[in-house]
Amino acid sequence: MAVHEGQGVSAGVDRRRFLGMTAAAAAGTSAVLEPLVFAGPAAAGGTATPPDETRTIAGRFEPGAPDWVYLPVDVPAGVREIAVSYTYDRPAPPPGVAGNALDIGIFDERGHALGGRGFRGWSGGFRTGFAISATEATPGYLPGPVNRGRWHVILGPYTVAPQGLAYTVAVTLRYGAPGPAFTPQPAPHRATGRGRAWYRGDMHLHTVHSDGARLPEELVAAARAATLDFVVSTEHNTSSASGIWGRHAGPDLLVVDGEEITTRNGHFLALGLPAGAWVDWRYRATDGSFAEFARRIHRLGGLVVAAHPYCPFLGCAWKFGYERLDAVEVWNGPWTLDDEVAVATWDGLLVESGRAGDWLPAVGNSDAHREPQVVGLPQTVVLADRLDRRSVLAGVRAGRSWIAESAAVDLTLEVAAAGRTAGIGERLPVAGAAQATATLTVSGAPGCSVRLCTDEGKVLDTPLPAGGAGTVTWPTTPQASAYVRAEVRRPDPFLPLGAMVAMTNPVFLGRVR
Ligand SMILES: [Zn+2]
Ligand SMILES: [Zn+2]
Repeated sequence: MAVHEGQGVSAGVDRRRFLGMTAAAAAGTSAVLEPLVFAGPAAAGGTATPPDETRTIAGRFEPGAPDWVYLPVDVPAGVREIAVSYTYDRPAPPPGVAGNALDIGIFDERGHALGGRGFRGWSGGFRTGFAISATEATPGYLPGPVNRGRWHVILGPYTVAPQGLAYTVAVTLRYGAPGPAFTPQPAPHRATGRGRAWYRGDMHLHTVHSDGARLPEELVAAARAATLDFVVSTEHNTSSASGIWGRHAGPDLLVVDGEEITTRNGHFLALGLPAGAWVDWRYRATDGSFAEFARRIHRLGGLVVAAHPYCPFLGCAWKFGYERLDAVEVWNGPWTLDDEVAVATWDGLLVESGRAGDWLPAVGNSDAHREPQVVGLPQTVVLADRLDRRSVLAGVRAGRSWIAESAAVDLTLEVAAAGRTAGIGERLPVAGAAQATATLTVSGAPGCSVRLCTDEGKVLDTPLPAGGAGTVTWPTTPQASAYVRAEVRRPDPFLPLGAMVAMTNPVFLGRVR
């Protein structure tokens, strides 16, 4: 671990050094700097409006720095607003080596314990500064009291170039009486809907509350333009957006709170969190903390979904295994090779988990951050009793869902045998030798072909008629096919198997043994 002493950069800047390293076991590797101390409003001699006070530190990280470095800030009484800004250098790294990237966030006087209550916001590497007061906060941060006590700015050296990463952090306290308290406006838990029906939603979306460029109002406009019934708000590592969705949801659009937990060993979605609930991200797969946070999300009524498990970017591929998950996001944004691998991995889990009766459903989401990334490309189409948070999550958890590139594509998949019928995500519990017929009906997919896949692989691959609509049937038995699932593909010169246009969760065949 190569954390070096901070270096003063001007006469007004104290030399800072690390107070010590904390244990790696609980929350990844971390370190703590010396505290920033302020004179406080009393030092201004009782003036009505004491002047702002700023303290600046400078320091340096070398490659191999801890995941998290905490800068204690001793906040005196009488603070109206705390503002933090930071800079760091970006020397050109050698070819093929990552340059500098430094993330930032903050915890308040309630502390920075793993999963604790002190979280007040996170902006990753997206912003150069933020401010928090009782009345408002920079998106990604939580408005509320700026109480006296020891706050901690958290620095996350995500990548450090071989030349090192030199940074400065400036903390400004603005004194005075706090403004009126922020009033959260969480989204309602239900929308009008159509009773028991298939509802289309995108469950992985970003706005300016993390590293997206869309404003919340722009996101819901894009969702409505895509004719989605619901969206899940999944900002990176913060709950700040949950306080504003009540302004943008409506009878026609259900907005569900969530979070994308962005660890150094992969990202996962917590879908259906109570407004204001926050899930910690400060662990790696080796820390053993994931199970605790998955349990916490389940206790809160939410789902745990691995996001883009084969994403090739640093820190983005999934390393926490497939236990404890409620679903896996096999299709993230426009179809690419890593989605193909995610589907293949997911498919490989279906036989054994299906036998146990506890299989892992697939979902697909856009992960859209900004124009021109399309909200609803792809989208998950969920069979739910009502258009409410609980019913939609239940449909996702049960795998009563399929994935489409847009609302233009529609399909049904059923398997019938011995006078019984099972749909997507269901099981047809008939004898192994029972003659079964799978029926797939597709529309809105011109130029595409349809495939049926079982535990043996692709058993049928046939082009749709020119209009892009048609029905195929295929005979099988439970002893020949543990499950049947469907894919709709479009030929693509760059993708050997074609681009995915729609895909279903499986229909399982036969009795569970
Ligand atoms: Zn992600
Ligand atoms: Zn994302």
